[in-house]
Amino acid sequence: MPDLLAKGAFFQAMKRYKCIHRRLFGHYNFTMPPKPPTRLMKKLNMTMKEFLIKYDCEALASLFELGHSMQGYGLVEHIPAFYGLWWFPPELFWAYLPPPLGKNPRNTAMITMIKEGYGEVWSRLAKQSNLDVILNFNVTAITRHPEKIVIEGIDTNGEQEASATLEFDYLIVTSPLKKMLNVLNDPSEEELEVFSKLHKYCVCTTLYSSDLQKGTQVIEYRPHALPTFGRVFAQRHSAKCVEGSNFRGHKDTYVAYQFTDPKKVCLNEKEYKDLFMNEMKERGITNIEIIEQQIWPYFYHFDKEEINKGYPWKILDMQGRNRTLYSGASASFESVNDVMNYNLMLLHRFVST
Ligand SMILES: Cc1cc2nc3c(=O)[nH]c(=O)nc-3n(C[C@H](O)[C@H](O)[C@H](O)COP(=O)(O)OP(=O)(O)OC[C@H]3O[C@@H](n4cnc5c(N)ncnc54)[C@H](O)[C@@H]3O)c2cc1C
Repeated sequence: MPDLLAKGAFFQAMKRYKCIHRRLFGHYNFTMPPKPPTRLMKKLNMTMKEFLIKYDCEALASLFELGHSMQGYGLVEHIPAFYGLWWFPPELFWAYLPPPLGKNPRNTAMITMIKEGYGEVWSRLAKQSNLDVILNFNVTAITRHPEKIVIEGIDTNGEQEASATLEFDYLIVTSPLKKMLNVLNDPSEEELEVFSKLHKYCVCTTLYSSDLQKGTQVIEYRPHALPTFGRVFAQRHSAKCVEGSNFRGHKDTYVAYQFTDPKKVCLNEKEYKDLFMNEMKERGITNIEIIEQQIWPYFYHFDKEEINKGYPWKILDMQGRNRTLYSGASASFESVNDVMNYNLMLLHRFVST
C-alpha cells in the first residue's frame, strides 16, 4: 500500500469509488444500500473484481482482499459487486488508514473483540430485558393462518424429547430463509422463488492447541490460501488477543478458519480435518490437538443475476405479508452489525415511535 499511497493511486481510486457509490446509493440510513434507480442497476451486474476494473479502482483490490474476502465473504473474482459495495461504504476506507491520512482520530483498532464472546451479549440482553426465550426447540413445521401462527417442533429441554405446538400472533424468521422453506407449510410463490435462490459458503472453524508457534500474529490472514478451498486462510489466537504481550502460555491455542464454496467444492468433517492436519504438519507445527471443529453455513447471498432482478430489496417489499417478517443474516449480510441494522430498519418501518 505505501507505494500506491506515494503515487496517489490509492486516493484517486478512493475518490472514484466514493463517486460511483454515491451515484448508485446516495446517502442512506442503516447499513443496507437502497435499490439504485433502474437505469443504474446494470452497473451492479458484475463481480466485485469486474467493478473495480471497470471504474478504475483496482488500487483498492488489496484492501478488498483483506477487508472483504478475508472475512469469508468470497473472492473478489466471484462475489457480486453489490456485496462488496454494501460491506465497504466509502467511509470505511478512511477508517482503515491511520492519522494523519485517515479519519480514525484516536487510531483505534479496526478489529475489536468481546472478551466473553458475542453469545454473551444476547444472553445478557435476554436476561436484563426479562425476555421469554425458548431454547433447544427444533422447529419442524410452521403454519400461517389468517389470524395466528402455529409452530410445531421438538422440545429437547426435558429429560426426553417431546413434540410441542405453540401459537403466536406473528412470525419473525431469523434462520437462513432458504432453510425455512423446509419447514414452512404453504410458502408463497415469491417466498419460494426468492429464498430458493440464496447460496451459502461454508466456513470450518477448528479450535486446536499446539506447541508454541514462532513468529505468528494474534490474527493471521493468508489471502493466497483462500482460492484453494479448504486451506487455512486465517487463524486467531484468542488468549493473545485478550492478554496481549502478557500471554505466558506453554502451549498455543488457535482458532483456524477454512473456507469453501459448496457450489464448487463440498467437504465433510473428515476432509476438513485431514486437510487441516496435513497443512499444519507441512508448516512444521507440532503436538497438534484438535479440541473442537465446527462447520458453519456462512454468508447466504444471491448471485449477480438475482441482484439484477432486485431480490435483496424484494425481501423488503415482502416484509409483513402473511403475518411474517424476515430478518437475520440471509435477509441482509453476514455480520452482527448488519443484522442489527436490518432489525433497526424493520423497527423504523413497522413500529411507529
Ligand atoms: C465462525 C464465525 C465467525 C464470525 N465472526 C463474526 C465477527 O467477528 N463479527 C461479526 O459481526 N459477525 C461474525 N460472524 C457472523 C455472525 O455470527 C452472524 O452474521 C450472525 O450471528 C447472524 O445472526 P442471525 O441471527 O442471522 O443467525 P444465527 O446467529 O445463525 O441464528 C440463527 C438461529 O436459528 C436457529 N435455527 C435454525 N433453524 C432452526 C430450526 N428449524 N428450529 C430452531 N432453531 C433454528 C439456529 O440454531 C441459530 O441459533 C461470524 C460467523 C461465524 C460462523
